[in-house]
Amino acid sequence: MHLSAHTHYQAELDAGRFCIQHCPQCHQHVFTPRELCPHCGASPLRWVRASGLGTVYSSTTIARKEDVGGNYNVALIDLDEGVRMMSRVEGVAPVGVRIGQRVQAHVAQKDGRGLVLFQPAVQGGVA
Ligand SMILES: [Zn+2]
Repeated sequence: MHLSAHTHYQAELDAGRFCIQHCPQCHQHVFTPRELCPHCGASPLRWVRASGLGTVYSSTTIARKEDVGGNYNVALIDLDEGVRMMSRVEGVAPVGVRIGQRVQAHVAQKDGRGLVLFQPAVQGGVA
């Protein structure tokens, strides 16, 4: 059975694994999941475990009422593999997320689906 790239990505997350794609032809990492390499058009792409380490590229605080969880942040994270993804940095106040901050991914489970979230990296300092 052939799963679409996005379905495969979500299935890995549901099993607690954060995977991205790697192109065997031009050796670049690929995210978001797709069928063809966006750089050179090669197919199929290989699945590899992401290191989970990245750097905050931008962060926006979204206002939300306290009774539904309070403010949260939406961040663009540059993974060390060279791809950018949208996620959320937790474990720090939304306004405390800094551009250039080193972060570490983990897979959270919400309503039975895996989800990539980030928290400040313990080691690695500022990129
Ligand atoms: Zn390629």
